[in-house]
Amino acid sequence: MSHHLGLDVGGTNLKWAVVERDGESRLVKSGRLPTDTHGGEKSVVGQLLDVARVVTGAVEGIESVGIGMPGVLDPDAGVTRFIPNIPGNWDGVQVTDEMAREVGSKVRLINDARAFALAEHGMGAGRGATSMLGITLGTGVGGGLILGGHLHLGHKGTAGEFGHQTIVPDGPRCGCGNQGCLEVFARADAIAAACGKPGVEEAAAAALAGDLRARRGFQEAGRYLGIGASNVVVLVGVERIVIGGGVASAGELLLEPMRQEIQRRVHVTDVARIKVVCGELGIWAGAIGAALHGAAEEF
Ligand SMILES: [Zn+2]
Repeated sequence: MSHHLGLDVGGTNLKWAVVERDGESRLVKSGRLPTDTHGGEKSVVGQLLDVARVVTGAVEGIESVGIGMPGVLDPDAGVTRFIPNIPGNWDGVQVTDEMAREVGSKVRLINDARAFALAEHGMGAGRGATSMLGITLGTGVGGGLILGGHLHLGHKGTAGEFGHQTIVPDGPRCGCGNQGCLEVFARADAIAAACGKPGVEEAAAAALAGDLRARRGFQEAGRYLGIGASNVVVLVGVERIVIGGGVASAGELLLEPMRQEIQRRVHVTDVARIKVVCGELGIWAGAIGAALHGAAEEF
C-alpha cells in the first residue's frame, strides 16, 4: 500500500488530496484553503510548500507529490510559463525542486484539466474506458485525453487543449492569441452573457424555470461544445466524454445539446456507444488527478 499527495492550485482555492494505492486507488484524506495570492507567485509557492509539509507530517509514508495548476507549464522542468487566473508573474517559476527537497519524494507538475481527466478515468466517471476525453468548464475551457488507457500528454504536457481548437474561423479573439477558439463561446462568462444573466448559476436556474433566452444560451454553448467533441471523436475515437468544472453543474442543459450535435455530425463510428456524462469526483478531481500523476511509474 502506498500514499500519494495531490495539490490543486486555483485562483480561489488550494485543494489537497491523499490517494492510497494497492492495486485500486482511493481517496483517504482531503482539504482546502483559500489560495494565498497576496504576494503573487511567491506566496502561492510558499503556501504549496507549507501544505505539503503539514500533510506529509500528518500522513505517514507519502511517496510522491503531484501539483496541478491551470495554464501553460513546462512539466519536465517543473516550471510554470503562463497562468492567467492566479495573480503573479508565473513565467519561469520553479515549483517542484524545493518541494522535492522538503518532502524527500518525487514531485511532478501537471495541467489541472489533464489532472481532471486522469482522476475521472482512474477513479470516477471514466472508469473502464479505453479512450476518454475530459472537459473542464469554468473560467476557461480545458481538456485532457486518455488514449489506450493512458493520459496522452504530447509535447511538454500540452496535448488535450480542447478549448483552444478553432470553432469559428475569424471569430472573436481568444486569450491564447487565436481567433474563434471554442473557449470564447463556452467559458462561464460567455455562457452567462448568452443567457442574459450575471452568472452561470443564475442562467441555469432561469433555463430550468423556462426562460427562453437562457435555454437558447445553453443550447448554443452545448452546440459549440458538441461540435468540438465531434472533432475529437472522429480524430481519435474516444468512447467516453466526461465533463467537470463549475459550469458542469448545469448538467443536462449542456450535455443534451452536446449529444445531439455529436449524433448529427459523427458518421464514421458507432455514435450510440459514445457516452457523454458528468464527472463523479466533484471538487476533488483536480487534486486526486495530481496525486495519481505524481504516483505514475513512468517518470
Ligand atoms: Zn484560444
